[in-house]
Amino acid sequence: MSNKIKLSVAALLFGIAIILHFSLDSEKKIPETEETKTAWFCTPCDHGFQLSGSEMTEKISVGRVDRPSDEEASEPQIPRRRRMIKVAQCPVCKEWSGEAARRCPDCGHIFSAKTKEGQPAVCPNCQWDPLP
Ligand SMILES: [Zn+2]
Ligand SMILES: [Zn+2]
Repeated sequence: MSNKIKLSVAALLFGIAIILHFSLDSEKKIPETEETKTAWFCTPCDHGFQLSGSEMTEKISVGRVDRPSDEEASEPQIPRRRRMIKVAQCPVCKEWSGEAARRCPDCGHIFSAKTKEGQPAVCPNCQWDPLP
């Protein structure tokens, strides 16, 4: 009887060991390829940069963009009126001023996805156009 208990404890430990082994293994396998990297652009620095999958967890935060207060004063606050944007920490100025950008598939240049006028931007390096 006690042998059976020992056996089941051993089996349980073995099972835990296997689970730990696989969970550690899968953690190592976070792909760090070009495809999993995201492109960001810091407008004040005019600097484009990329973050890999593991860097994204610590260098990206979600910020709220509130509407001007004079508009909110006349109406009740509706959460939908607020825009949530993801911002990334710029490696140059260390400010959270990086916004989601595009990486040109032709030349690899990183540029802001939108122009100052809010239009989709073309690659400033090779004029690649994201629009078909
Ligand atoms: Zn910057
Ligand atoms: Zn380009």
